[in-house]
Amino acid sequence: MTTPTNHELQDLLDNNKRWAADTETREPGFFSRLLKQQTPQYLWIGCADSRVPANELVDLLPGELFVHRNVANVVVHSDLNALSVMQFAVDHLKVKHIIVVGHSNCGGVKAALYDLRVGLVENWIRHVQDVRHMHSEWLYTVPEPQRVDALCELNVLEQARNACHTTVVQDAWGRGQEVVVHGWVYGLHNGLLEDLALTAGKAEDVDPAYRRALANVKRRYAPQD
Ligand SMILES: [Zn+2]
Repeated sequence: MTTPTNHELQDLLDNNKRWAADTETREPGFFSRLLKQQTPQYLWIGCADSRVPANELVDLLPGELFVHRNVANVVVHSDLNALSVMQFAVDHLKVKHIIVVGHSNCGGVKAALYDLRVGLVENWIRHVQDVRHMHSEWLYTVPEPQRVDALCELNVLEQARNACHTTVVQDAWGRGQEVVVHGWVYGLHNGLLEDLALTAGKAEDVDPAYRRALANVKRRYAPQD
């Protein structure tokens, strides 16, 4: 029986059929190969925002990117969901890179900056408010129109640093496994990803990488004379 909801979703199912057929035509055997294994090199931890679709932005196919997304790309040490994704990606899939990706004009970051009342999710973005409070002295020197984007970038740095401090990453580094944590930001206005240069491949890298990346962000948003 066709319900009104099914009818509304029919476009998506039709798109899917076309996509599967096109993919198989372009690369015969694509799906049967994927069935056997996935060997992604990268774990993407990004925002749930629909304008920041992980695979499309970096032009990767199914099987090439392991993805975790939540509101405002938060990595928090008590989040079993994110930690489980990281643990599976690092211990079993042996990803080489973990990329924490924020984006400009993020709604979650904006809510955290302006104390917007948005319901249950306010509790989640308290983690972003922690970032705001941690950097408030500097943040309020940034001209108001750029402040959201500045906090988006600070949030990437803090969440990437949190990723470095998880038991998953610490244990991987401890046993000499090659895994590098990165912090990137995506520009909604131009479609471009930017590396914030928080790049850590071992425990000793974390503090210098964080300080360097933080200095870069501060330089970028310094008031112009
Ligand atoms: Zn967002």
